[in-house]
Amino acid sequence: MATTSKTLWEDVLSRGVQEVVAELSTEDAVRLSETYGTHNYKPLPVNVVRGDGVRVWTSEGEEYLDCIGAYSAVAHGHLSPFIMDTIRRQLDRVTVLSRAFYSSEVGLFLKAVCDFTELDMACPMNTEAEANETCIKLARKWGYTVKNVPLDQAEIIVCSDNFHGRTTTIVGFSSEDKYKKHFGPYGPGFKIIPFGDLEALKAAITPNTVAFLCEPIQAEGGILIPPDGWMTEVRRVCDENRVLLIWDEVQTGFCRTGRRFAWMHEPAAKPDLIAIGKAMGGGALPVSAAVGRREVMEVFQPGDHGSTFGGNPLGSVVAIAAMAEMEVKGYSERSAQLGDRLADRFRAFNFSCIKEVRARGLLVGLELDETVDSAAMTHALLAQRLLTKETRKRTFRFTPAISITEDQIDEMGDRVERALASL
Ligand SMILES: *Cc1c(COP(=O)(O)O)cnc(C)c1O
Repeated sequence: MATTSKTLWEDVLSRGVQEVVAELSTEDAVRLSETYGTHNYKPLPVNVVRGDGVRVWTSEGEEYLDCIGAYSAVAHGHLSPFIMDTIRRQLDRVTVLSRAFYSSEVGLFLKAVCDFTELDMACPMNTEAEANETCIKLARKWGYTVKNVPLDQAEIIVCSDNFHGRTTTIVGFSSEDKYKKHFGPYGPGFKIIPFGDLEALKAAITPNTVAFLCEPIQAEGGILIPPDGWMTEVRRVCDENRVLLIWDEVQTGFCRTGRRFAWMHEPAAKPDLIAIGKAMGGGALPVSAAVGRREVMEVFQPGDHGSTFGGNPLGSVVAIAAMAEMEVKGYSERSAQLGDRLADRFRAFNFSCIKEVRARGLLVGLELDETVDSAAMTHALLAQRLLTKETRKRTFRFTPAISITEDQIDEMGDRVERALASL
């Protein structure tokens, strides 16, 4: 492997990046990441160099089942053929333009995303935190220019245990020390209430409240599912008080919970705005958006907001392909059926350490009690060639690609059972 930067550049140019990368062992990859990268993640000790569907392989050729699916971003499976083909064909045309010009690809993406979400207009971004930031900006500007809230007094209500991303504004209204501490001072204008608590929502609303921003299911928070009917009631309370309802569907969206979006489990809970991303990028590229009702989206005027890469032709064709495949291949039904199959299997296990199985579609959480050391469980899963990590609340996450087969679901269940038995 190249040891000086000069040699690295020459090596790459003469042989190609992939040829140089192919020579790295797991040990090399770990050392490079730990030496030259900040330590803001604690990866599992595997170096994945290839993927295909839910299967991935390490540089040493060991095969694992990927139960994380990039935190739901890989819904189509690794290297999904139609998405890869779409990328290859776009490489003969144009990839990145910025929004300084019109683009047919971006135009069609905007229509596709409005059709898919049943909303009116979209603002394309790249990352999921940006999609949420965009919703926050839209809600505030709507508050000042439409609802007539006094300038700089807008309030947004959020929930404890939320996860909306890592920007300074967003971590400012996190209830998790790990995400927040030492990154202040935090911006004002957010109120935190308990998740799933309708009375707390009513009590928190003031004349200056512009929006309620919330995940329909708290995925990072431990796969926490609110009571049935809560989303509908939230919609009603928001309507009564002229407060915008913003669902962060970044992780729950795109068929993950057995519907195109989790709010669609309660059709009356249709939002004014949603933040979406992750699986929209087809497991290949970052593509996100804020999508909403025309009355809200139209508050943006030229210059109000933007992103250099947000709305680029390459990301657009990938997202169109990703959504088309989900619709035509029935990903919602698939996710509902396969998720039930996995959750039923988990529920049939006979281990006293299992506290609860929480699932909606292929968003499946296995919560263990205090008798199990989480690191030991992670290693038991690794020994069974399963890759997953715990979210908060000692809950192990199972969010594999929705393209997973029934046999692979059963295999996953068998391996989790063996891992639990080995503890
Ligand atoms: C992942 C996630 C985000 C933030 O995503 P980034 O890619 O880190 O910007 C926001 N909201 C939810 C619900 C998420 O799951």
